[in-house]
Amino acid sequence: MSQVIASGADLIAQTLKNQGVTVVFGIVGIPVVEVAEACVNAGIRFIGFRNEQSAAYAASVYGYLSGRPGVCLSVGGPGVVHALAGLLNSKINCWPIVLLSGSCETDQTDMGAFQELDQVEACRQYCKYSARPASLEQLPFVIEKAFRTALYGRPGAAYVDLPADYIQYAITNKKVFDAIQVSRVPNAPKSMADQTNLNEAISLLKNAKSPLVVIGKGAAYARAEHEVKELIEKTKAPFLPTPMGKGVISDSHPLCVSAARSKALKEADVVLLIGARLNWILHYGHSPRWNSNVRFIQIDISPEELRNNRQDTVPLLGDIQLIVSQITQALDSKLTNMNPAYVSGLVDKVKQNVEKTKIAGSKGSDSAILNYATAFTVIKRILPENGVVYVSEGANTMDIGRSYFDVNEPRHRLDAGTGATMGVGMGYAIGAQSYYGDAKRVVSIVGDSAFGFSAMELETAVRSGLPLLIIVINNNGIYHGLEDEEYHAALKDGTLPTTSLSVETRYDLISEACGGKGWFVKNRIELAKAVKEALAAKDETCVINVMIAPGGRTKLDFGWMQKTEKARL
Ligand code: ADP
Ligand code: MG
Repeated sequence: MSQVIASGADLIAQTLKNQGVTVVFGIVGIPVVEVAEACVNAGIRFIGFRNEQSAAYAASVYGYLSGRPGVCLSVGGPGVVHALAGLLNSKINCWPIVLLSGSCETDQTDMGAFQELDQVEACRQYCKYSARPASLEQLPFVIEKAFRTALYGRPGAAYVDLPADYIQYAITNKKVFDAIQVSRVPNAPKSMADQTNLNEAISLLKNAKSPLVVIGKGAAYARAEHEVKELIEKTKAPFLPTPMGKGVISDSHPLCVSAARSKALKEADVVLLIGARLNWILHYGHSPRWNSNVRFIQIDISPEELRNNRQDTVPLLGDIQLIVSQITQALDSKLTNMNPAYVSGLVDKVKQNVEKTKIAGSKGSDSAILNYATAFTVIKRILPENGVVYVSEGANTMDIGRSYFDVNEPRHRLDAGTGATMGVGMGYAIGAQSYYGDAKRVVSIVGDSAFGFSAMELETAVRSGLPLLIIVINNNGIYHGLEDEEYHAALKDGTLPTTSLSVETRYDLISEACGGKGWFVKNRIELAKAVKEALAAKDETCVINVMIAPGGRTKLDFGWMQKTEKARL
């Protein structure tokens, strides 16, 4: 009998190793325990989660941060369905991810096998590529194709089915094992913009009176911080980062007009979009939020994206690094037609608004109940300026927090993103901390509702030795909650609002129960002390449960999401 030299699981692990994978996020179970074990034996870190959804979110964000596909491993059936959340998240944010999931034996298909599901079909609508290898020998080819497809063009998701019989297969032929290996997918090839479109863009920019550069998370993903900075230094044009475009150039740059966003949108006559879509986040490029005469120039890697919602956009198809350099080179000096009053008007507005947030943050006594502004002001004062990776989610916590926490480095702010996905926080924090390692501290500032989606992943963080610092901004509810008395009265009467969560839930104790540290704080003094102690606890997973006034912002205003006022039914 010939000798077994490896299993199918070893082949999968070797293929991932060849792709340069250093960490896999997932949950084991039949039939993928062997795959995870083989990965560990091959020197790949396996971070085992408590729900595939968070594992897939971790892989999703890892793809964004590393610029290579993040990898998620799950069981079949329900495991895949949970992980779909991460595929959607990657698709919608344009980040590379590969999901590998166990599936039933190839000779048991359609027989009602264990956790049987047509996973290739289930994943297909979120994926650029979704496949079940036709044979064991084809596995490395299919995995390479998944990596390449996830990475090339507009980044996105890919899925590979791992049938149980392939995983368990006993490989005896070393020659075949070696021959079917494939090498690492090289980084994506890049292209420059077409000259005609470039000329038109340059002419628009040169004639602009009120130019605005919008920096999206595509610029962050493309690692174009150097090129974008050069462009701003040369043109002296004001710039506006999108929520995750923050940090490509430091928020403290004098031309950053985040704090005068509405005014900038209304006044800009020529807008250069660098890796940002004209979707809901940018109000589709339509008035009344934008000036009705505005012209857009859009740099994007995806041809289908160009001119979406604005047919008069000048399209610059290709890679952000290369195209931004093309623009900088083609412009010989700062934009001479730019109206100085436009820039100084924005800069003044920024100063006024920053002052307003300062005033809001310093209101009340040190022992008073906190609110978003006062809590964020305390936290900001204590956190270091650099070396912090922010994770932010929860409606108000994320929205209000955006204006309090400056981001000075690219890819250092992660939030609910294009999908406005709540529940990404723990997966993102774990994915980010495992990517950045000891060099950075991940600080999640999240709402109580958002945190609840995946609080059990605290155990994952503690077990994996990831020193996350999670600050839960707790107002007893979604958007807002109730005071203790109101809550108990409503509970008794059966009139509890759908936005309510239990009063003063002790999220800090969940951390302690999982082996981490916890603080429960109610005022400035307690909060400041807790943040300092948590920062000092460098190797520990920490949760600070910050009670704020439950009332908060009670009026929900969706008006900003509408296409135009007119188009409403
Ligand atoms: P934001 O949410 O910050 O506005 P989006 O996710 O809407 O950003 O847009 C990011 C865009 O960047 C996507 O349309 C994507 O196709 C594009 N993109 C990603 N990588 C590159 C790249 N290397 N070059 C050009 N465009 C890119
Ligand atoms: Mg809340």
